[in-house]
Amino acid sequence: MAVATQPYAEQTDEQKAITEMVHQFVDEQVLPIAEEHDHEDKFPEDVVAQMRELGLFGVTIPEEYGGMGLDLTTYALIVEELSRGWISISGIVNTHFIGSYLLMKFGTDEQKERWLPRMATGELRAAFSLSEPGLGSDVQAIGTRAKRDGDTQTGTGDWVINGQKMWVTNGLRSGLVFLLAKSDPDASPPYKGMTCFVTEKEPGQSVGEGPYAGLTVPPQIKKMGYKGVESTELVYEDYRCPSANVLGGEEAGLGKGFGQMMDALEVGRVNVAARGVGIAQRALELALRYSQERKTFGKQIAEHQAIQFKLADMATKVEAARLLTRKAARLKDAGERSDLEAGMAKLFASETGKEVVEDSFRIHGGYGYSKEYEIERLYRDAPLLLIGEGTSEIQRMVIGKKLLQRHKV
Ligand SMILES: Cc1cc2nc3c(=O)[nH]c(=O)nc-3n(C[C@H](O)[C@H](O)[C@H](O)COP(=O)(O)OP(=O)(O)OC[C@H]3O[C@@H](n4cnc5c(N)ncnc54)[C@H](O)[C@@H]3O)c2cc1C
Repeated sequence: MAVATQPYAEQTDEQKAITEMVHQFVDEQVLPIAEEHDHEDKFPEDVVAQMRELGLFGVTIPEEYGGMGLDLTTYALIVEELSRGWISISGIVNTHFIGSYLLMKFGTDEQKERWLPRMATGELRAAFSLSEPGLGSDVQAIGTRAKRDGDTQTGTGDWVINGQKMWVTNGLRSGLVFLLAKSDPDASPPYKGMTCFVTEKEPGQSVGEGPYAGLTVPPQIKKMGYKGVESTELVYEDYRCPSANVLGGEEAGLGKGFGQMMDALEVGRVNVAARGVGIAQRALELALRYSQERKTFGKQIAEHQAIQFKLADMATKVEAARLLTRKAARLKDAGERSDLEAGMAKLFASETGKEVVEDSFRIHGGYGYSKEYEIERLYRDAPLLLIGEGTSEIQRMVIGKKLLQRHKV
């Protein structure tokens, strides 16, 4: 269904072609299976196989490593389309995208050559792990500990990791986990003692063996929405991580993990914003359709002004969220500061996702509460976007801090 708010005007020809291709893919392959997979909490194997064929796991990975070498703006356009179909699909690529961003920006040449080619095809997929059972927003409180076991003089030897991680999206099926751990517990402030370790595991295996012994993936967490894609805990018990897997190498990477992860969260926020736009767009489409089908008091409900006003507010918010998201992505692509803009886009677009979905749900009346209607799934999916990559309260803290930094008197 073509909706007037579909903004192709400012896109390059390449972006238009990719966006249209993903839009069609979502209409033909994602929307028809989303309800069944959601209701059964089933991983969409076939869709993921097709996404691999389309190259969607390597959108931002440079061509020399087998990817498409496209920018964040194009990636955000793709994510918007995928989320319009089902946000779980975008969740499968999101942590993978963050992992590849970390490798491209901070990884050594050896690390890039080792992992990026298989990541570009989606054969090797990545997870991103900050949160623990006792913390999410307060990242500096991380308790997972990495201790060197080996020659501290020469900097060789493994790191031994102990700790428990929580809410790891793609925790079971990923082969790489970008893990933030404390390598120096005495560092002050604590963030200076944190390092990002690229921990390897066997995809799909819940109890690590051989080189992956010491890493256990407990059964996936049961959730209200965001089904199909697994969220798990990860338990590290004397898991050995070679020093070669310190992101950026020991010399450059030790003690730099916090800054690296925060940098990645900035692009992650643009990505969550795009997911907010996608789910809101779909909710709007469903409301436009339903309001022209359902009749009350002798006319289509779309003819009642109260419903038209709701549709008008919904479409306006979707468009505003889209523009904020594209602005943040473009600034990042242009190498300009985008921390404030990424925070604003994430805050506004995720709240818009929730609000527009709720308005569409109301327009559906009693049927919105039925599992027969797609809006019921969107109603359970949308709240995740208020939480992931930093809650709305945390975004407001980021925005406030950055505003004051930029406007110091
Ligand atoms: C489905 C799902 C998938 C996820 N995937 C991942 C993943 O792949 N990797 C990962 O690392 N994490 C992941 N997370 C975790 C997510 O990032 C955290 O849940 C989120 O950061 C919030 O942390 P918390 O749940 O510990 O809440 P808390 O930090 O305990 O916050 C609780 C409440 O207090 C508010 N609050 C906290 N501090 C302040 C403050 N200073 N001022 C005002 N209000 C405050 C928060 O906004 C929130 O409302 C996922 C979560 C979910 C639900």
